[in-house]
Amino acid sequence: MQEGIKRWFEENSEKAKAVSRDLWEHPEASQKEYHACDALCAWVEEQGFTVTDRCVAGLDTAFCAVWGQGRPYIGFLAEYDALPGLAQETVSTYKPMDLPFGHGCGHNLLGTGAAAAAMALKRAMEEEKLPGTVYFYGCPSEEIMEGKIVMTKAGVFDHLDAAISWHPGDRNRASEESYQAMLSMEYHFTGKASHASMAPQEGLSALDAVELMDVGVNYLREHVPVGGQIHYVIINGGQKPNIVPEKAAVWQFVRANTAADLRKIAARMDDIAAGAAMMTGTKVEKKVLTGCNETRIVPALVELMNDVMVREVPAIRWTAEEEEFSRQLLEAQGADWNALAAAFGADVKKKPLDSAVACPTGKTIDILGSSDLSDVSYVTPTCMLFAATYPKGTPNHTWGVTACSGNSIGQKGMVYAAQVMAQTGYRLVTDPELLKDVRASYERALGGAVYAPVG
Ligand SMILES: [Zn+2]
Repeated sequence: MQEGIKRWFEENSEKAKAVSRDLWEHPEASQKEYHACDALCAWVEEQGFTVTDRCVAGLDTAFCAVWGQGRPYIGFLAEYDALPGLAQETVSTYKPMDLPFGHGCGHNLLGTGAAAAAMALKRAMEEEKLPGTVYFYGCPSEEIMEGKIVMTKAGVFDHLDAAISWHPGDRNRASEESYQAMLSMEYHFTGKASHASMAPQEGLSALDAVELMDVGVNYLREHVPVGGQIHYVIINGGQKPNIVPEKAAVWQFVRANTAADLRKIAARMDDIAAGAAMMTGTKVEKKVLTGCNETRIVPALVELMNDVMVREVPAIRWTAEEEEFSRQLLEAQGADWNALAAAFGADVKKKPLDSAVACPTGKTIDILGSSDLSDVSYVTPTCMLFAATYPKGTPNHTWGVTACSGNSIGQKGMVYAAQVMAQTGYRLVTDPELLKDVRASYERALGGAVYAPVG
C-alpha cells in the first residue's frame, strides 16, 4: 500500500469507525438521509474537500465533494440509506431496536468507507504532488433504486475516468457480478363501482382486471428469456366486498439479464394488461416508477482491484471474539452447517468470517438482484469490491447484517474495503498506461452499447 494511504488509515481509522457507528445509530429512510449527508460532508470538508453541490440532480440528499485538479478524474460512490424494520442491537441474537429503520444492508459502512477511500487517495496525491481530481459522490436512496440512476441520467458521472465503490458482504472479492436489469411498474385499472349484490351488472371490476392480468403474467413466466423474473403485489384490491371495485392496482417488478430482454418482457406485460382491461371493460394506466440496466463489468478493473487485494492490502484479521460472535449469530439465524460447509468449505464453523480473497473467474457472472450502480457502469468504467462485514452465508437485508454493521466486524471490513478502493485509485492515478487499458477494456465490455435509461 502506498505510504500516504497507509498513514492516513493509521491516523483516521478510528474516526472512520466512529462515523460509521454514528450513521448506524441514525438510520434514515431513502430520500431522507439528511444526517448521513451532514456527517459525511462535514468530515470530507474538514479534510480539505470542497462540497460543490448538496442537491445533485435535484435530489435533496445527493452531494458532490471534490479535491484536486485536472485529469484523471476518479470518483468514489457512497450510499447511506437504511431499510425499514431492520433495527437491531449489536448482539448475536435477535434483539430488535425501537427504531423504524436499520442498516440491514450495511450502507452506513458503504458510505463511510467510500469517504475514507477518497480522503486517503487525496493524502497520497498530495504527498506525491500528483495531478488528478478526486470526486466523492453521495448517492442517496439506493434501496428504492433511485439515486445513481437519476444522477447518471443527469450526466453527473460522464466525465469520470473511473468510478469506484464497494458493498458490504460475506466474502472478499473484486466483483465480476452483473446485476440484472430491472423495471418497477404499477398498472392502475379503473372500472365502475356498483352494489355487488343489488346491481353487479352495472359494475366493471378493476379488481377482476388486476387478477386477470396476474393470471396472464403467471402464464407468461414460462416463456421469458433465461434469467427473466417477475414479482408482484396487489397494492389496491378495492374497498369492500359489497362494492364492485372501481379502482385496483398491481405493482410489478420485472428483471432480466439484459435491458434488451427486459424490454421484451415488459412489452408482453403491457399487452397482457391491455387484454385484461379489454376482458373486463376497464381502462388501464401504467406508471413506471424506476428501472435500471444490467451491470457492465470491466475486466481490467476487476484484475486491478483483485491485484490490490491480493498483493497490497493486508488481509482482515479477526479476533476469537468476533469469530465466536459470528458462530452464535449464524446459529441464531438457523444455520445449516452442512449446507454452509458445502458452500464455503469444511472450516466454516471454525472460520465463519472471511479473510481470504476469492480469485476472479475472468468472466462476467450474471447474478440475481439489481443495483443502481449498473447505470453508472454504462457511462464510465466502474468497479466495486465486496468485503466481509458479516459471517459467511448470512442473508443480506436481515437483522444479522444490521448487528454486524454496527460493531467491530463490519467496521473492520469497511476499513479493508476503503484501503482497497484508495489503493485502486492510486494505481489508476499513477499509471497512464493502466488507465488506457481500463478504457479499452471498458469499450470492449460495452461493445458499442450506448446508455439508455430503462425507467
Ligand atoms: Zn445495499
